[in-house]
Amino acid sequence: MCYRSLLIGITCLCLGSSGLANSDQKETKPTPKKELFRGRVVIVKDALEKRGITAFEEMKEQVALETPEGKLLPIVADWRGRAFYQDKRLRNRKVELVGYQRKGLPYLQVLMVFTFDDDNQRMYTDYWCDICSIPMYEIKPCDCCQQDIRLRFQPQDLPDYLTRDQNAKK
Ligand SMILES: [Zn+2]
Repeated sequence: MCYRSLLIGITCLCLGSSGLANSDQKETKPTPKKELFRGRVVIVKDALEKRGITAFEEMKEQVALETPEGKLLPIVADWRGRAFYQDKRLRNRKVELVGYQRKGLPYLQVLMVFTFDDDNQRMYTDYWCDICSIPMYEIKPCDCCQQDIRLRFQPQDLPDYLTRDQNAKK
């Protein structure tokens, strides 16, 4: 009896894990390669005005990364990019963004944000609740205690996988 229930248990485990694997395959589209994007995040309306293009107020919220070459890459307001819409402290300053662009889309999807301090030191940038010690990625009351959270800067190098790719290109 015990042996049988053990067998049933094992069967359930196997079914469970293969079920998971299947649903993963369904949901996962090929993820575009993560890349490093440099520049500063600007309000698109302002950037267009500098180029002699007047856009009306419907565009006043849209932000984009302005690259050193003067390209504008609009940022998706998702779980990570949203902070650039909410927090002007993140705009009009030198940044490095790890993220990707999907084929056929001009949009940049941000995964990691790096800013630079006065000494030009690279800082991994997110939000932090001092009470609960949990990171967050947009301005909001803390997920846990509902208190204010703060913008956090931590000295940190770029992720290894970017450096590896850059070395491979050389
Ligand atoms: Zn908290």
